[in-house]
Amino acid sequence: MTNSRIEQLCIDKGMKMTDQRRVIARVLSESEDHPDVEEVHRRSAEIDDRISIATVYRTVRLFEEAGIIERHDFGDGRARYEEVTEEHHDHLINVQSGEVIEFQNDEIEQIQDVIARNHGMKLVGHKLELYGVPLKKGADK
Ligand SMILES: [Zn+2]
Repeated sequence: MTNSRIEQLCIDKGMKMTDQRRVIARVLSESEDHPDVEEVHRRSAEIDDRISIATVYRTVRLFEEAGIIERHDFGDGRARYEEVTEEHHDHLINVQSGEVIEFQNDEIEQIQDVIARNHGMKLVGHKLELYGVPLKKGADK
C-alpha cells in the first residue's frame, strides 16, 4: 500500500511510524469531514481492532503538534480534527444538525487583513467559525 499523505508528512518530519500510527494517519487523510477522536478511533478500529482510544489520543496530539493536522472546536466541547491544507477555508456550523460547511470568502480575508493592519500588525493566521440554524422556508431572515 502506498503511504497516505499524512503518513508521508510524518516520515518527512522524521517521525517513527508504527503500524497503528500508519492506520490512524490513513484514516485522517481519507476523512473529508471533521471527526473527533472517538470517530477517528471507530474508523481506525475497523481497520485494526487492536488500536485503543488512548493510542488515537496520543497519535492525534502528535500529528497536531507536528502541524500536520488542525484541531477545531465547533462549540460542542469536542475537539475535531482535519488535515492541514494549503487552501485556507473557514467553517459554518449548523448548530441543529452539527453539519459543518466549509467556505472561502475573499472579502472576509481582506477585512481581517485591514483590521490587523489598523492595529499595526501583519496577519499570520486566523480562525473563523460561524454558527447558524437553517432558515425557515417562506420566513426569510
Ligand atoms: Zn474544515
